[in-house]
Amino acid sequence: MNSVNQLKNYINGRWRDSESGHAGEVINPATGLAIAKVPISSKQEVEECILAADKAFDGWRRVPVTKRIQYMFQFKNLLEEHADELAKIITNECGKTYKESIGEIRRGIENVENSCGMPMLMQGTNNEDIATGVDEHMIRQPLGVVTAITPFNFPAMIPLWFLPYALAAGNCFILKPSEKVPMATTKIFELLDQLDLPPGVVQLVNGDKTAVDVLLEHPAVRAVSFVGSTPVAKYIYATASANGKRVQAQGGAKNMVIVLPDADMDMTTRIVGDSAFGCAGQRCLANSLAITVGSAREPFTKAISEKAAGLKVGYGLNDDTEMGPVISPQSRERVYEFVETGAKEGGRILVDGRGKNVESYDGGFWAFPTIMDDIAPGSSIAKTEIFGPLFGLMHVDTVDEAIELINSQVYGNMACLFTSSGAAARQFRYEAKAGNIGINIGVAAPMAYFPFSGWKESFFGDLHAQGHHAVEFYTQTKVIVERWIRDWDRKF
Ligand code: NAD
Repeated sequence: MNSVNQLKNYINGRWRDSESGHAGEVINPATGLAIAKVPISSKQEVEECILAADKAFDGWRRVPVTKRIQYMFQFKNLLEEHADELAKIITNECGKTYKESIGEIRRGIENVENSCGMPMLMQGTNNEDIATGVDEHMIRQPLGVVTAITPFNFPAMIPLWFLPYALAAGNCFILKPSEKVPMATTKIFELLDQLDLPPGVVQLVNGDKTAVDVLLEHPAVRAVSFVGSTPVAKYIYATASANGKRVQAQGGAKNMVIVLPDADMDMTTRIVGDSAFGCAGQRCLANSLAITVGSAREPFTKAISEKAAGLKVGYGLNDDTEMGPVISPQSRERVYEFVETGAKEGGRILVDGRGKNVESYDGGFWAFPTIMDDIAPGSSIAKTEIFGPLFGLMHVDTVDEAIELINSQVYGNMACLFTSSGAAARQFRYEAKAGNIGINIGVAAPMAYFPFSGWKESFFGDLHAQGHHAVEFYTQTKVIVERWIRDWDRKF
């Protein structure tokens, strides 16, 4: 790959230069240097893509599901073979460590594997003799043209939450990846190109809001999947549903973790630290605030501060790096500003990650792990998604108060509890208002065969990504009631 690679769109089975005349820069956040140019596609290019998908659909849905999944088996093998190359691309465009990049590829591949079960997953149901000689069947059919609009923080995994299910169920799929990280998806489409799928079945269109708006409004697009920030998720949900489309829009998060005095403090610190600072705090399932209960305060505060201060920050392809940079200078500024605001609102800085640099990587977007204590309920840090390595601490006396703090916030992506008490664990999983719950787990990311179940302002729609929800999302049910009556039947 050239040092600054001019990326293309993949439309109707061919790699195409964009004719829009607009391009964005892809920046390696560890160096601050441009590594590629990404097309900002025009309205016409996206329309062309949709028309190609619409044309391809009638043929693709007739390809037997047993044959459609053969493409997915091949795709899985190609992803496995190219995992190392793909991981290096992810690290260079997104900043996370190589190990984290490999981890996200694995989670993505699990969805491809899962989609290979589509012959059983999309089976219907039926009843014979709902009346004499009358049978009723419910079958699942694909929708047509479907699209996904994805964020920067998991360039490979999140597109794979959608693409394999959509295709295996018989839909034609268009991906609009984040313009910040289009290189991993380009690589994924180079692999898809090797499958010799019919033209128009799977397409890649790079771009920004202009491209998204065409996908949200065009009558041939039947379903929209989105993952990104809450304000954009709300916009996508409102616009696409106003245009009559099926929508699943996953938004932002503020994931809190409760630490009880009976928790195994070593394990808790290790797991919560990995959750808070893994991917530089840029996971939608990152713990960003801990609520300690009673005597957990002192040991946990001390241990998590030591963990944060000791993390090795650097370029993600260096073996000893434990945390990479944040995605952009704006993200770094945002973290710094929240530290200042938090201090003005009464927070105490225990570990300050501002203003530090990594040797030989002066141009990188470095925000080192930061810990703030005494975060006040309702303050900016307590209620806003920061999406960076800033971790807050709050302290209460009872588990009831801690659960109430979690339940009073607007987001509901994930909530975690660390304890050795089964009774506390049961109360928590029963009462916590979040779609993904971790008990002695710091990143409660559902496996591919479970839905990714955000609640409240973390999700807009009905059916989530992955698992059976994906199958339902990408199929529409048809009910057939049929009468074939013979004289023999009339005797009963
Ligand atoms: P983002 O909302 O800025 O962008 C996401 C996508 O939307 C991109 O493809 C972008 O091009 C497009 N977009 C941006 N602004 C738009 C607009 N005004 N109109 C139409 N399209 C627009 O999100 P991001 O910064 O790339 O990703 C980080 C966010 O994603 C965080 O809030 C994080 O919590 C969230 N996220 C959520 C989940 C989840 O499962 N709930 C998973 C990963 C990330």
